[in-house]
Amino acid sequence: MAKPTPFTATADVGHWIDGRAVAGASGRQQAVFNPSTGRVARQVALASTDEVNAAVASARAAAPAWGDTPPIRRARILNQFLQLLNQHRDTLAAMITAEHGKVFTDAQGEVTRGIDVVEFACGAPQLLKGAFTDQVSTAIDNWTFRQPLGVVAGITPFNFPCMVPMWMFPMALAAGNAFILKPSERDPSCSMFIAELLRQAGLPDGVFNVVQGDKVAVDALLNHPEVKAVSFVGSTPIAQYIYETGARNGKRVQALGGAKNHMIVMPDADIEQAVDALIGSAYGSAGERCMAISVAVLVGDIADQIVPKLAERAKALKVIDPMDLAAEMGPIVTQQAKERIEGYIGTGVEEGAQLVVDGRGLKVPGLEGGFFTGGTLFDHVKPTMRIYKEEIFGPVLVCVRVADFASAIQLVNDHEFGNGVSLFTSDGGVAREFARRVQVGMVGVNVPIPVPMAWHGFGGWKRSLFGDMHAYGEEGVRFYTKQKSVMQRWPDSIGKGAEFVMPTAK
Ligand code: NAD
Repeated sequence: MAKPTPFTATADVGHWIDGRAVAGASGRQQAVFNPSTGRVARQVALASTDEVNAAVASARAAAPAWGDTPPIRRARILNQFLQLLNQHRDTLAAMITAEHGKVFTDAQGEVTRGIDVVEFACGAPQLLKGAFTDQVSTAIDNWTFRQPLGVVAGITPFNFPCMVPMWMFPMALAAGNAFILKPSERDPSCSMFIAELLRQAGLPDGVFNVVQGDKVAVDALLNHPEVKAVSFVGSTPIAQYIYETGARNGKRVQALGGAKNHMIVMPDADIEQAVDALIGSAYGSAGERCMAISVAVLVGDIADQIVPKLAERAKALKVIDPMDLAAEMGPIVTQQAKERIEGYIGTGVEEGAQLVVDGRGLKVPGLEGGFFTGGTLFDHVKPTMRIYKEEIFGPVLVCVRVADFASAIQLVNDHEFGNGVSLFTSDGGVAREFARRVQVGMVGVNVPIPVPMAWHGFGGWKRSLFGDMHAYGEEGVRFYTKQKSVMQRWPDSIGKGAEFVMPTAK
């Protein structure tokens, strides 16, 4: 593959309201960094309540006609969007790398996983089909069908600026809603490019809007009576706040939170496979994935074989310019996040864990100002330590040694988070027991990052998800629609007259 073109635009990033880009008018803005260089790349507007209200007004005006548009015609516009996404996937991937810092090849994977959901949403007419009972009583039929909610909003995190919005808006739009996206202020450019592609695909003005911003914009959405549902993905304290505030204001809310994902390695596991899986899932995207593995639970005496191999591989990670196709790990998103992660490493040492590989203070030649930190590995970590209990959200893997499978599963089930989990074993009986007993929403058996495909839905358990429904998949369709039941009797049927052409959706 040829060297990819980096994203270098310097223009300020504003909002997308009523089918066009508009500059921020609040007078507030925030710097967007290129984490590889550590330099400010551009500024992003931070919306005021008035700007959010303008986006809601535009969405509200557009929602009835869009909701009345036959689902197959809505799906055709999404199909056009899909084609444009496929044409521009590397532009989006370069934007992700420029603002988030993950390596370009991983950013391409992010775009593809977002595209999966758009492909699924193109088939939404099938999912919007209702259920019909003929003759519930003499000459009376009863059917149920699902209708859009109206205006819905999505609030998304920095770590998947393309994929996580695509968990939400393709499903919401396919179901007939108007959508307002509030992306992360750290990496806002993808959202505007997506809005432009939706416009080119033929989406009517006002059906998709973007408001950039911070808590002010989020609170304006949570408090607006016309916003009927809120999808959120981000950290657990904010997820809980969004859930409680949204619910108090009468909204439907799904709020996906943080994680501390364990991977159990049984003594009968294939060691090379398990090491590959741990290295990729702990250090890929510099650990800034909600499905990253951050705890290795090493059962029996396998730790003595695994830890030295992990150490060797963690030290050899290729942490270089993330646009280099050979790069394995890029920088951390911000200087503050890097400091938080390195602070946790210091805490782990103070708590008495054994620091096997220390990634602090890494300098990448030519990118000395970048927010880099290297892969870090701890052994002999105890469940009482903060580095075990809390989400570090960086390239830090902690190893906990346990005696047997029962202790391993107990450890996972006692943790406050329940997003993803994985087991490496060659025993089918143990794997089956694990999948049934573990208190976690997304489970991998010999698969390190079990992110469900577009038609299965994504969601954790415990404090990794507030609300009832998972993102995308059939649950996504249910979340963005409400069911109506109709019971009908027609004593006299009236003929419509003859039609001679093939009937089509109008
Ligand atoms: P974050 O919670 O800081 O921000 C998420 C969104 O909330 C952003 O749009 C941000 O502007 C907004 N926000 C931040 N503070 C707010 C406040 N006080 N009031 C209202 N809104 C606020 O999360 P982040 O740092 O962008 O993303 C990383 C976190 O997201 C990690 O905890 C990660 O585990 C989690 N995450 C979870 C999933 C999942 O599916 N469960 C997926 C991706 C990321």
